[in-house]
Amino acid sequence: MSYRIGSGVDYHKLVEGRDLWLGGVKISHHKGALGHSDADVLLHAICDALLGALCLGDIGVHFPDTDAAYKNIDSKILLKRTAAMIAMEGYAVVNVDSTLSLQSPKIKPYVAQMQKTIAALLAVTEKDISIKATTTEQLGFVGREEGLMASATVLLRKI
Ligand SMILES: [Zn+2]
Repeated sequence: MSYRIGSGVDYHKLVEGRDLWLGGVKISHHKGALGHSDADVLLHAICDALLGALCLGDIGVHFPDTDAAYKNIDSKILLKRTAAMIAMEGYAVVNVDSTLSLQSPKIKPYVAQMQKTIAALLAVTEKDISIKATTTEQLGFVGREEGLMASATVLLRKI
């Protein structure tokens, strides 16, 4: 059986006046992530990991932020389209492991819903979607709540 591994990382600025979307779920917070799309840093990192596993470039190649079609787009649509590309290449997701780096808010209450949302988009079970979270102990731009970061690793298997 043939397997491929991929990794992705993404960053967004946190600003007042934007909704905060993480893992396809709207998070209650006084700041939101700034971006051309809904700026869902976790879904973007997972998209890049999926693309990376099959050497298909990155999210900016497939969904350029210069294209008005992607203005404020729901990143669940981007992940769904990325998953379709993976299927077209003859691969299925085995599992995803990811980490969110943000100082606040606590995302634990939202993790189960994020797992459910992402699992449905990738045709796997919640147990196949690991979402961890860490602060940076107040260090750097994450610690100052100027931005947030996500990283993801995925394993694909040939169907
Ligand atoms: Zn992004």
